[in-house]
Amino acid sequence: MPPAITNVYKRPVLLHQGHMQWLFDNEGKRYLDLFGGIVTVSVGHCHPKVNAALKEQVDTMWHTTNLYRHPKLYEYIELLASKFPGDLNVVYLTNSGSEANELAVLLAKAYTGNLDMISLQTSYHGYTSSLMGLTATQSYRMAIPVPTGYHHAVHPDPFRGIFGGCRDSLSQVPGENVVSGDCPSAEKYVHQLNELLGNSVPAGRVGAFFAESIQGAGGVIQFPKGYLRQAQEAIKKCGGLYVADEVQTGFGRTGDHYWGFQTHGVKPDIVTMAKGIGNGFPLAAVVTTKEIAAAHSKAAYFNTFGGNPMASVVGKAVLEVIEEEGLQQNSKVVGDYFIQQLMQLQKQHPVIGDVRGQGLMLGVELVEPGTKKPLNLPQVVDIHENIKDQGVLIARGGRWNNVFRIKPPMCINKQDVDFSIAVMDEALKKYSK
Ligand code: PMP
Repeated sequence: MPPAITNVYKRPVLLHQGHMQWLFDNEGKRYLDLFGGIVTVSVGHCHPKVNAALKEQVDTMWHTTNLYRHPKLYEYIELLASKFPGDLNVVYLTNSGSEANELAVLLAKAYTGNLDMISLQTSYHGYTSSLMGLTATQSYRMAIPVPTGYHHAVHPDPFRGIFGGCRDSLSQVPGENVVSGDCPSAEKYVHQLNELLGNSVPAGRVGAFFAESIQGAGGVIQFPKGYLRQAQEAIKKCGGLYVADEVQTGFGRTGDHYWGFQTHGVKPDIVTMAKGIGNGFPLAAVVTTKEIAAAHSKAAYFNTFGGNPMASVVGKAVLEVIEEEGLQQNSKVVGDYFIQQLMQLQKQHPVIGDVRGQGLMLGVELVEPGTKKPLNLPQVVDIHENIKDQGVLIARGGRWNNVFRIKPPMCINKQDVDFSIAVMDEALKKYSK
């Protein structure tokens, strides 16, 4: 294994089996999975319906490439396209989120003729040499400079951002600075974006603006209400497209809607998705309009594995399970309950500086009590390790790696929440005096 791949835990777990929201180690110890293999196990480990679809396809046909057609591909892309509003109805299938975002960069360049891309500070959009430009988070970019043509706008962050910000009134943070119209700070962040467009982007022309609907790896950061809409307008004036990276926020996870961008009342020009789309099977997609896809038709395009029969049947089964089991609604109900319990926990543990998120995409930021100073890393690591030892797997993220990220399979229930809260309560005691 390359040294860049580090183990999450000092005392690592060796995982052997998974069933729905549970994972089991080599000694049979059970863990509640609150991270779903980086927000990927959307409907549950080894979900019986997804497994059945895959098993049937294994004995039918594995592979064709997308140069040939097969019925499973048509069935799948038709169902996937039906989940999008308006004219977003052209589907490209790829294998990973990075590939999907690379393709979105190419589509934006082909359609607009503009080469510059904008993303937000602390963003993560993938790990390829050109996406090292879109991914603004330093720790992933090694020591290399930002590739030419990529620019990073100030990230609007209600907790830490230079202009603060109110929570989106549609997020489930009860009583938290809720505003009825746009948050006043949204305009200030968009002003910064306009400064960047005016000063750094050649002749004020831009290819695309990439943003997640809630920033994931960056630490579960929600936009102040109105930001995304105003940002899209600013980008459009410079000839650019808005690409919604729904790799983490898609497929009902945010609870109120199927796609995270819908919370903000915006319609992207291109949507990229991966992770939860395949419940752990390598699958990703780019969805756009006929007009934008037409600009790409001058070039030949293929993707060897994209839309392969196995991936297609898995993708279709995942969409059906989300519908049949009401997993978007479950994300809303269990997510609301989770955030309320976390806010109660915050009252007992001043080491919790902020609780945020929407649906089953939640963040708990640890700080030095009474300040916004990130809790020092050894203490965060100790709490993290203790939570795991008690049987809950959770992730960390954010600029200082001090944000617990809770993004479980969407089948978890309120008892699982109670168990997680009891475990976190125990782990935090040591640091809450
Ligand atoms: N976009 C976002 C928002 C992500 O979180 C990730 C992965 N963490 C990617 C893109 C890249 O996806 P992949 O690892 O499948 O290439």
